[in-house]
Amino acid sequence: MSFDTSTLYLFATMVAGMLGAMLMFFGKQENIPALKWWGSAYLLGAASVALWTVGGSALGAPLLLALNAVAFAACGIVWNASRVFHGRKPNLLGLMLGPAAWIVAVTMVQNPAMRLTIGAAVVAIYAALTAAELWNERRRSMQRRWPAIVVPVVHGCVLMLPILIGDIVRPHDEHFATSLWVKMFSIELVLYAIGTVFVIFMMVSDRAVAVHKTAASVDPLSGMLNRRGFTEACTRVIEREANAGRPVTVMIFDIDHFKSINDRFGHPAGDEILKLFATVVVSNLRISDLSGRIGGEEFAALLPCPLEEGVLVAERVREAFEASGIVCEEGPVDTTVSIGVAGGPAGTELEVLLASADTALYQAKRSGRNRVEAAAELPLSLENWRRKTAGLPASARQKPLVA
Ligand code: GH3
Ligand code: MG
Ligand code: MG
Repeated sequence: MSFDTSTLYLFATMVAGMLGAMLMFFGKQENIPALKWWGSAYLLGAASVALWTVGGSALGAPLLLALNAVAFAACGIVWNASRVFHGRKPNLLGLMLGPAAWIVAVTMVQNPAMRLTIGAAVVAIYAALTAAELWNERRRSMQRRWPAIVVPVVHGCVLMLPILIGDIVRPHDEHFATSLWVKMFSIELVLYAIGTVFVIFMMVSDRAVAVHKTAASVDPLSGMLNRRGFTEACTRVIEREANAGRPVTVMIFDIDHFKSINDRFGHPAGDEILKLFATVVVSNLRISDLSGRIGGEEFAALLPCPLEEGVLVAERVREAFEASGIVCEEGPVDTTVSIGVAGGPAGTELEVLLASADTALYQAKRSGRNRVEAAAELPLSLENWRRKTAGLPASARQKPLVA
């Protein structure tokens, strides 16, 4: 079976054109600027290659040169689309340089093989820049990112082939335009166009999932994890610390007489105090500690450390909040916090630690507020006991110490 080169190129441009229209459509519908960049690159690239294939040399040298320049610009737009997708500004100078290099090459260089080499190098450089842009995106794991890197790298390598093995490819040969290599490039073009769209949609869907996940686990007022986010994050940390055999400490913070602050200074002032308290908590914890807002004026933290160390941290937070010196329009607001702290051996469940810290918090409130209280007893986990004894014969099972 043999294909005519022009037919192959027309097929490639039709596929690229359809993908471009699809990207533009989704870009508009979902309001994702990067998709519009990608879409316009596809449409421009497809239009210029289609006109060039259909018109051929009948178009005249200046128009052909302009069409080629547009095709190179399309490669630059693909690179800029990945920049925009990652929140960076488009690099318009870099976008102009590729087509400019091609125009200079055509006007200054007579040797067609050399021209082809320069053209392929421009496309390969844009492919490498695109791959580098995606590589720098550290938010995705390597596993999910690999197609985003492999697709442009393979494309760049294929385009560099005539340069690397120039003599075998013989771009200076008069039959080059209809050679197997040129046909292969057109097939590669289709695969690249489809592969890139696959990568684009993979990244867009990853981003959408990440945004929804974040929105579902973050408290918009304080910017901290909400109860759900905090619980999920804690479960992972507790499991990690349990594997290493290390203890964890949990604390619950409850702002004192917060209702009266709202009543005296207004709800917006109350909100400001909640934000301030979040800052006090975060700035007094280490990067490895977790914290979140688990209720109205209740916050919690999980520290990978023993109870005694956790009590010191809690005391630091209490002092810092007391000394924060908040002043409202109506005057100074005296705010304090009560904190309950509970620690447990490796593997103690979050619910058990939270329940224990809550009891300690209640004790702190009863003892006059603005204080740190540590849970007296080590919490016992009913679930752990069940799991441990599940494999033993009934006679060997012990009764749990707490129900
Ligand atoms: P205690 O010292 O015993 O903890 O007393 P308290 O007044 O802090 O506790 P209480 O549970 O009676 O009141 C909590 C108040 O927190 C009531 C509620 O209006 C307020 N609150 C809950 N969420 C928010 C919020 O998002 N913003 C503001 N401004 N207030 C909130
Ligand atoms: Mg409360
Ligand atoms: Mg309170």
